[in-house]
Amino acid sequence: MLTIGAFAKASRLTPKALRLYDELDLLRPARVDPGTGYRYYAAGQLERARTVAWLRRLGMPLAHIREVCALPPPDAAREIRAYWARVEAETAERRELAGFLIAQLTAPPGEDLTMTTLRLRYAAHSDRGLVRPANQDTAYAGSRLLAVADGYGPAGGPASTAVVESLKTLERADGILAGNVLNLLDAAVQDAALAVHDVSAEEETGSTLTALLWTGSRLALVHIGDSRAYLLRGGGLFRVTHDHTLVQSLIDAGRLTPEEAVTHPQRALLLNSLTGTAPATPDLRLHDAHPGDRYLLCSDGLSAVVPDARIRELLRAHSTPEEAVHALVAAANDAGGPDNVSCVVADVAEAPAAG
Ligand code: MG
Repeated sequence: MLTIGAFAKASRLTPKALRLYDELDLLRPARVDPGTGYRYYAAGQLERARTVAWLRRLGMPLAHIREVCALPPPDAAREIRAYWARVEAETAERRELAGFLIAQLTAPPGEDLTMTTLRLRYAAHSDRGLVRPANQDTAYAGSRLLAVADGYGPAGGPASTAVVESLKTLERADGILAGNVLNLLDAAVQDAALAVHDVSAEEETGSTLTALLWTGSRLALVHIGDSRAYLLRGGGLFRVTHDHTLVQSLIDAGRLTPEEAVTHPQRALLLNSLTGTAPATPDLRLHDAHPGDRYLLCSDGLSAVVPDARIRELLRAHSTPEEAVHALVAAANDAGGPDNVSCVVADVAEAPAAG
């Protein structure tokens, strides 16, 4: 038996930490002297004490450590992997927000729509598909705002319409400066969530939202749910958004391959969306616009049935946004059209010289 002092030294933990772990049931002493209350530990407890210490260094909360320590090693390993995937996802989210703030604070002074030499050419198209009785998607493209919303539940159609209508206030907002985009977007998204609430306060009804707001030299992205934004740049297609779905979180945690996700029975399960019942927590990001960039926003009615390689081909093959959105929707319907499908395509182009 080791005294708490000797055990602390051997495990590189402090006696104070050991007393805390005892109280939290993380690591009970092998024996407590009934007379003096002194704690004694067995040498065999060293390994567990060190594991606790390492997990603490990883930043894992104590309650979670207790669960991990109770598991057999393979399950504990899986639990640590999943924990770390969540930490990385949260860090990525904070990194994006930091990037947004940095970009916003380094915007060229006086930037506004009247100063810009770039503009958008755009088109939107939404289709019921071949199976669903109604179209619950809403797609919109205007000179400043591009948006796709995919409603679900009993009032899904009105919900996605309300979300896009609510965001359209950004089309009319005076003086969208790069410096206040984050506040404008955040306010618009909270208004959109209230609009969903006005349509239906039921938990079963909600909508995704993937939208781009044009500032004159940049595109601010707001994204919640499993609609997607892609960027075609230099011939390559890049997915700009991260699906807020159960299957994506399983892929992130290394528990599912992207190939397995395609046929997963719960592939449509959303972890985050605009509902009337919870505050909205969208991803926000600021993209520099380059002449020649082509953006695609789409609902899962496209991405679930048309592979990225085919989407890329179609985006490259059709020169105008109008042709591209119709070709993409047709491709989804050729693949069976199992869901509503919406596409917005926008090209960043040099504006014609003034005068
Ligand atoms: Mg859908």
